[in-house]
Amino acid sequence: MHIDTITSPELEWQQEALCAQTGADFFFPEPGSSVREAKRICGMCPIRAACLTYALDNDERFGVWGGLSEKERLELRRVSR
Ligand code: SF4
Repeated sequence: MHIDTITSPELEWQQEALCAQTGADFFFPEPGSSVREAKRICGMCPIRAACLTYALDNDERFGVWGGLSEKERLELRRVSR
């Protein structure tokens, strides 16, 4: 049986993800808690644009991606239709 490598080419950009160094907790906060720290880290991340594009293309519903919260991504999708 062929076993794929864990990192698919599609996700290679994630190797530069700042959140990979800080841990996922900030990025998937409990409902109603602050996403400010996650957004601050995204603001310094070199792959922010790729991350946001990935989240929008894959309809990621939870957590902060590319500096935008779930609500903000929903709003972005709504206005860009
Ligand atoms: S933009 Fe934010 S969520 Fe996306 S990879 Fe960078 S730090 Fe992680």
